[in-house]
Amino acid sequence: MVDPGASRAENVRVKTCRACGNGVEDRFRYCPWCAAPQRRKLVEFFAPHPGVEADAQKALRVSRYFGDDETAPQVRFSIWSVDSAEAAVSLSPEEAERVAAFLTPPAPRRQLIDQLRDTLRL
Ligand SMILES: [Zn+2]
Repeated sequence: MVDPGASRAENVRVKTCRACGNGVEDRFRYCPWCAAPQRRKLVEFFAPHPGVEADAQKALRVSRYFGDDETAPQVRFSIWSVDSAEAAVSLSPEEAERVAAFLTPPAPRRQLIDQLRDTLRL
């Protein structure tokens, strides 16, 4: 006898979004219905500059905590050397936004003549 529950499609794990209540497969980081984050944190490692030999064994880990009943939303930066953290600091989401803005290159300044053309609709 064939087990009707054994089909592949039914084995995909589905959770319920905490924000909107719709079903969300485990593989999604964000709810496809309302865009709410589906994990308590996201972690990304960043490699050191290849031209700075002293940092060759180090990495920057950035952990983004979305917050829950016990932990406020925060972004934690930690410097790892081989397999342990040497230092870490948590920033508020607002300060983390300032870091992102600081790292984002400014938009190229438009030529004055282009601004005048737009203003005069030429
Ligand atoms: Zn949702």
